[in-house]
Amino acid sequence: MAAVKLANASKTYENGITAVRNASLEIEDREFVVLVGPSGCGKSTLLRMIAGLEDVTSGDILIDGRRVNDVPPRDRDIAMVFQNYALYPHMTVFENMAFGLRMRKMPKEEIRSRVREAAESLQIADYLDRKPKALSGGQRQRVALGRAIVRKPKVFLFDEPLSNLDAKLRVQTRIEINRLHKRLRTTMIYVTHDQVEAMTMGDRIVVMAGGVIQQVDPPMKLYDDPANRFVAGFIGSPAMNFVEGKVTAGRPARFICEALSLPLAAATAHRLKKAGREGVTLGIRPEHIGLSTAAKRTSGASHEVTVDVVEPIGNETLVYVRDGETQFCIRRNEPVSVKSGMKISILFDAKRMLFFDTKTGKRLG
Ligand code: ADP
Repeated sequence: MAAVKLANASKTYENGITAVRNASLEIEDREFVVLVGPSGCGKSTLLRMIAGLEDVTSGDILIDGRRVNDVPPRDRDIAMVFQNYALYPHMTVFENMAFGLRMRKMPKEEIRSRVREAAESLQIADYLDRKPKALSGGQRQRVALGRAIVRKPKVFLFDEPLSNLDAKLRVQTRIEINRLHKRLRTTMIYVTHDQVEAMTMGDRIVVMAGGVIQQVDPPMKLYDDPANRFVAGFIGSPAMNFVEGKVTAGRPARFICEALSLPLAAATAHRLKKAGREGVTLGIRPEHIGLSTAAKRTSGASHEVTVDVVEPIGNETLVYVRDGETQFCIRRNEPVSVKSGMKISILFDAKRMLFFDTKTGKRLG
């Protein structure tokens, strides 16, 4: 168990690419933190810097208060689980799990008891004598997890460990890793590009883009209160709707764009005004737009649109609507009786409208 701290840590590769820029982050002892972001955002590099597999170009990394910049990986007391968890094909499951401990010259009895304990908790105790080729992909992944667990490290690092598994197995293994975290109560740092995986696993999520940490918060805080347009658009599926426009003065002040003219609450208008009125982007999640097939309402926030596509998913329905070039995705968790081509009115939940600076992406209100 250990706290992990990054202080202004940066990594520039020899080819001049700065993969991680001034990352500062404090991960508490026993915390489960997920690093998430699109491919190439620097999350694997950051994890590898913590592991000691990449040198830090500037800044510091501390594990349990000790600066480890110059400490080799094997002395950092961490265990890493990769996407390509290459097991030794000629060794049994037991030998694969015991290998690292043997290399450390641990007494045989201790090795046996650690392997057995880990195998039982991962439900692979019946396969200890098998070779990897006689296991399913999911079982092999559990052996790889077991190999990390037997080390009893201070910190577990995971680099996209589930991406080779099929969808069903991915969900199962995700739950297993969550359970493992509760049982082992060890600090875990987990890298994924999948925002659903991130939302369901982390105590806190670190969202990265372009080598820079964008926001660090618990899952629902990220979802409800994103710091910028990138985070707002990255977290949530279907993604948040965005419309570029501007704010006009008046009572009430309004957000206007090609398709919309929405009255704003006084407090929101005040915040937007303070930030300057030009170039504001409205963001609203699909579930925060209501729809009605009734005649156009007179309320200022409602708006007439044409239904493009309806997707009934079972537990919810996605309705894609448009007005000229402006499109919205609406999510309703009840069946809706609308069809492609129909004219309907939609209504924005004024309390859930978010506003961003169009130029910088920064959250304004
Ligand atoms: P992610 O894990 O988010 O997909 P990476 O950390 O692998 O991102 O990569 C971040 C950036 O650093 C990318 O632009 C990638 O091309 C670059 N990069 C990664 N590894 C190396 C390397 N060994 N040498 C040079 N550039 C690298």
